[in-house]
Amino acid sequence: MNWNTPICKVNETENTIYIKREDLIPYSFGGNKARKAFLFFKEIDACKADYVVTYGSACSNHCRVVANMACERKIPCIIVSPFLSHVKNSYNTQMMEIFNAKIVTCPIDEVHQKIENILSELKRYGHLPYFIAGGGHGNIGTQAYIDCYEEICEYEKSMQMKFDYIFHASGTGTTQAGLVCGQLINGDNRKIVGISIAREEVYGRGIVVESIREYLDTANRKIPEQKIQKSVIFDSSFVSGGYGVSEEGINNIIDNMLSQRGIPLDQTYTGKAYYGMNEYIEKNNIKEKNILFIHTGGTPLFFDYLNEGSLNNG
Ligand SMILES: *Cc1c(COP(=O)(O)O)cnc(C)c1O
Repeated sequence: MNWNTPICKVNETENTIYIKREDLIPYSFGGNKARKAFLFFKEIDACKADYVVTYGSACSNHCRVVANMACERKIPCIIVSPFLSHVKNSYNTQMMEIFNAKIVTCPIDEVHQKIENILSELKRYGHLPYFIAGGGHGNIGTQAYIDCYEEICEYEKSMQMKFDYIFHASGTGTTQAGLVCGQLINGDNRKIVGISIAREEVYGRGIVVESIREYLDTANRKIPEQKIQKSVIFDSSFVSGGYGVSEEGINNIIDNMLSQRGIPLDQTYTGKAYYGMNEYIEKNNIKEKNILFIHTGGTPLFFDYLNEGSLNNG
């Protein structure tokens, strides 16, 4: 699906920095979860599912968007959510309540079983539930970011320029998998850098590589393993305290980006990734390059940040 989200130049320092505004996808505060969910709901509409089941934390952007789309269709939505002591209720949680989503909590190590139980129970009662993996993980989510990659290529063509680097926040790795698949399919050789927002390097990177392979296998595209491996840069140097934990450098970036550019970032994803990008540029002595930062959304988390008005709001 083509959204053609705007690409804006924000900064001309040693490098030229552009931002692709995925946060402006026109549904439920947008973001990468909206881009993915539109593709999932195409399937849901086609197969006439009568329940949607998904997974995510209380502040999940993914769950907000999925609950919104299910509510619009009058399809009941069940969200399985892990108990996470450091994740507080948020504007996303409040919206899930407005959308009448049923939130079922359980300890994190029982999540898999819980989902299985809910799905088999629904089927036993004659329902046709559709399960969306947490964060919109899987080939459909990957496809959404191949579409995004194609938009980036279109922009480059029309502006007669090339981005040397693409940076973005990497969580479940689906966004990164899609972007890298797009790159491999097009035979481009720029660098795509996923800034990890929680996962450590070996595990997080492994999931990105696995998702790429799964997509390419299903699409019957033969790309050498070595090439896939070389294309995945997953930097976990900025995970700091873990998922949702901010620090002063990140808060400064959020405040600056809003006051100087009018663009909201958040502590969990885009603020952390933008901070990571700046550090990466400096550490690797990158100069005179065209750099694209993908704003993956999460605007409700920006308001959580304002609401908390302090560090480590989780
Ligand atoms: C989920 C999310 C990400 C991470 O995307 P993945 O595809 O899970 O890696 C980045 N930014 C925002 C705002 C998100 O909600």
